[in-house]
Amino acid sequence: MSAPQKTYYFDNNATTRVAPEVVEAMVPFLSEYWGNPSSAYGFGSQVHRHVEQARETVAALVNADPKEVTFTSCGTESNNTAIHSALDTTRKRHVITTAVEHSANINFGQYLQKQGYDVTFLPVEGDGSLDLHRLEQAIRPDTAIVSVMWANNETGVLFPVEEVAALCRSKGVLCHTDAVQTPGKLKIDVKALGVDFLSLSAHKLHASKGIGMLYVKRRTKFSPYIIGGHQERGRRGGTENVANIVGFGRAAELAMASLADENTRVRGLRDRLENHILSHIPNTVRNGAKEPRLPNTANIAFDFVEAEAVLMMLDMVGICASSGSACTTGSLDPSHVLTAMGVSPMRARGSLRFSLGIYNTDEEVDYVLKHLPPIIEKLRSISPLNPDHPDNTAYDIAGARAKHEQELAIAKADEMVSA
Ligand code: PLP
Repeated sequence: MSAPQKTYYFDNNATTRVAPEVVEAMVPFLSEYWGNPSSAYGFGSQVHRHVEQARETVAALVNADPKEVTFTSCGTESNNTAIHSALDTTRKRHVITTAVEHSANINFGQYLQKQGYDVTFLPVEGDGSLDLHRLEQAIRPDTAIVSVMWANNETGVLFPVEEVAALCRSKGVLCHTDAVQTPGKLKIDVKALGVDFLSLSAHKLHASKGIGMLYVKRRTKFSPYIIGGHQERGRRGGTENVANIVGFGRAAELAMASLADENTRVRGLRDRLENHILSHIPNTVRNGAKEPRLPNTANIAFDFVEAEAVLMMLDMVGICASSGSACTTGSLDPSHVLTAMGVSPMRARGSLRFSLGIYNTDEEVDYVLKHLPPIIEKLRSISPLNPDHPDNTAYDIAGARAKHEQELAIAKADEMVSA
């Protein structure tokens, strides 16, 4: 058997490698210590102690009290729970979120609309930022909750959650933030943020899939989404996912320790990758504001190519990246995030996301920078979207070029304003 090809993993916003330290922490709870943490005898209560230790570490990651941490199955469940709880406890009928949220919010919001609730999907600016004035205008007497993400998973653009929470407080509206993309990349302090709810998902911080948490600020009225036993102090029914919870706790420790690395070394790798692409591959532009932005994410539009084709060719040389597109029923829809930012469908279809992490190295960035330019060049040489294509007679070359140059000029001007 030939040796497996090395994987060059640049898709850390999709999921992360489970850290060896996390696996090591989990294994005893899949082998020796398999008791039920709710059992009264010692074999159960020793497991319970480890669950509570993990709760303390996860609470420390966000500067919360352990009692404010409820373990869930994932980020999606945490988001759904926060919104459901707000609607149930306030008996109000209006929810505000944004047009660039993860599908955990977009699809839940659409579901709520079908149930007769009123949901506002706030638009964003061209650089992916949120206009607080627009938010203020959208808040109504019947608004139960404002739920906005902290960091966008496609562009890395950050929303001003502290200001959003302050605005919500002044209007007496609950505030939730989906902070799934932030651990290990941003310092999380729920007290400074001032939110009522905050969601995390363990598989984005080098722990396993199937475990998340919801921070619920002390004294916030709460209504459970998963109704069953008395686990999680009655906030979420279902026997605790012990091994995953213990792994989440270990990953939280590692995330706190790696914050400096993400913000210096990983940021440096991301910047080198992004700057090299933008300056060496023609007709490329960054999607979204340069700052404030996660230190690990680069979302770049490559004009005149289909991102899916680029990804396939990158995959052939072992590089994992992603496009924002969702592949639904065989048709490739352009990313809803880029579309909401006003990026043209053609440009959105040619956009790639590279999301780095603590395991990426300088050599891996070199490898991408070696393989990506010829792939783009090759695909452009055969692309019917390319105005320079020699056989491209059915194409309005002059019109396409003029439109393209205009778009590039606008993007560059926006960049200068945001720089
Ligand atoms: N929110 C954001 C911003 C995400 O990036 C993701 C996952 O990609 C989720 C929520 C959903 O998390 P999970 O996969 O744990 O349900």
